[in-house]
Amino acid sequence: MTDCLFCKMVNQAIPVDKVFEDERVLAFRDINPKAPTHILVIPKQHVATLNDLQDPSLAGHLLQTVAQIAASEGIADTGYRTVINCNAAGGQEVYHLHLHLLGGRQMSWPAG
Ligand code: 5GP
Ligand code: ZN
Repeated sequence: MTDCLFCKMVNQAIPVDKVFEDERVLAFRDINPKAPTHILVIPKQHVATLNDLQDPSLAGHLLQTVAQIAASEGIADTGYRTVINCNAAGGQEVYHLHLHLLGGRQMSWPAG
């Protein structure tokens, strides 16, 4: 999608602070971090929301990538939070599926 912010990042039209990349996913640091570690993991193909995620293999790969990045960032053992905001009531602002990886501080619950 040419008008999608995260597709532009995948296509390198907009630079990102890249953390990890393979053939299916891209991970980069959030521009407005809500925790000492705040990384977004996205599929390279355009998927608008979690409601549109059709591919179980891609879903699993996104989750495994989050866990691997948590390990490489040194927050796997202390703990971290993964968030997917879906649609307006879920707080989604960018309509290209992304998993938030948040860590490096104590998280509170319930989420706001
Ligand atoms: P959402 O609310 O859709 O779940 O989260 C969107 C996230 O994308 C927010 O945490 C926001 O800070 C991040 N974001 C928005 N624009 C940019 C950008 O241009 N670059 C980066 N790295 N992150 C962005
Ligand atoms: Zn997109």
